[in-house]
Amino acid sequence: MYDFIPENPYLLLTPGPLSTSKTVRNALLRDWCTWDDDYNQEIVQNIRRRLVALATKKVDEYTVVLMQGSGSFSVEATLGALDGKLLIIANGAYGERAQEMAEVLKIDHVRYTLLETEAPDPAKVVDLLNDDPEITHVVLIHCETTTGMLNPLPEIAKVVKAAGRILVVDAMSSFGGIPMDLAELGIDFLISSSNKCIQGVPGFGFIIARKSELAKCEGKARSLCLNLYDQWKAMDSSGKWRFTSPTHVVRAFFQALNELEEEGGVAARHARYCENQKLLVEGMTKAGFEVLLPENLQSPIITSFLYPEADFDFTSFYEQAKARGFVLYPGKISQADTFRIGNIGEVYPDDIRELVKVVREIRGLN
Ligand SMILES: *Cc1c(COP(=O)(O)O)cnc(C)c1O
Repeated sequence: MYDFIPENPYLLLTPGPLSTSKTVRNALLRDWCTWDDDYNQEIVQNIRRRLVALATKKVDEYTVVLMQGSGSFSVEATLGALDGKLLIIANGAYGERAQEMAEVLKIDHVRYTLLETEAPDPAKVVDLLNDDPEITHVVLIHCETTTGMLNPLPEIAKVVKAAGRILVVDAMSSFGGIPMDLAELGIDFLISSSNKCIQGVPGFGFIIARKSELAKCEGKARSLCLNLYDQWKAMDSSGKWRFTSPTHVVRAFFQALNELEEEGGVAARHARYCENQKLLVEGMTKAGFEVLLPENLQSPIITSFLYPEADFDFTSFYEQAKARGFVLYPGKISQADTFRIGNIGEVYPDDIRELVKVVREIRGLN
């Protein structure tokens, strides 16, 4: 009856869910038993090992916990497992969300608040840590998807480590798309999800944790379901998730990891994203759009553009682009009227060239 697989009617230029390959989507098409080794060992444990290998050369020091839900569930599971006082560096919606979580979970915290267009200053972080010895953990968003800003992770990591504090990084929209080594940087917990740069479909998140720090989370969880330590222990012993595993999504993620390897790994994917983003900015600038952030703060993941004139009708622009095959992303910053265009996912330089053509047509150019 329903035996056809619909093609995608448009390309998602959003930072997740994003456009996935047909082969990733095809991997969703069979069912799995969660009691058997062909799922628990050959897929779940395999994914965990490969994620550690993507994250660091020091594979023995780290482990990966997979967690049901969207990326925020994994952030909440992580923050909820910590014992101490957090310094949350916030220059966008995701930093703000981390603070909301700390409030709801009643975790002692302070916030280093910046404008959405402002990068955190490592010297200021040094001062904040010196002034408050009670701070045990620092929470940083790597790519602030709100604007597309790439926060200065190596510089912040360096001062956090020098001050002997634990570093928690929300690298949701960058992990797998920007090369990094957690052990080298000194990251203790890093959070990402299935539907961003690994290019899987949405349904779970993952936490890459230094084992020695994760071990300290025993009995600390502020939630039954989002219990990072217990999930780790259960998964480590059998590959079995504590509660229902999103089997199809996990199998598709396994396929997405294969495709990341086939592409040439994180370095090759990063190069493609950089090329996409460069073409995007060149083309959009020529079409009369200005980029919100200076180039040195801009990530290769997603770019914010200012409305070209005060009465720019984004809804109409969005609808016309969508009808021609491209879904853009509204802006959500308070200081300026912006919209965003993501360039991660199954998106290639030729797609960006086509998008630029479409944008020029909509704007009545050439
Ligand atoms: C996508 C994203 C998240 C998680 O968002 P969900 O909607 O819960 O998946 C968290 N932080 C950043 C920086 C993100 O880009």
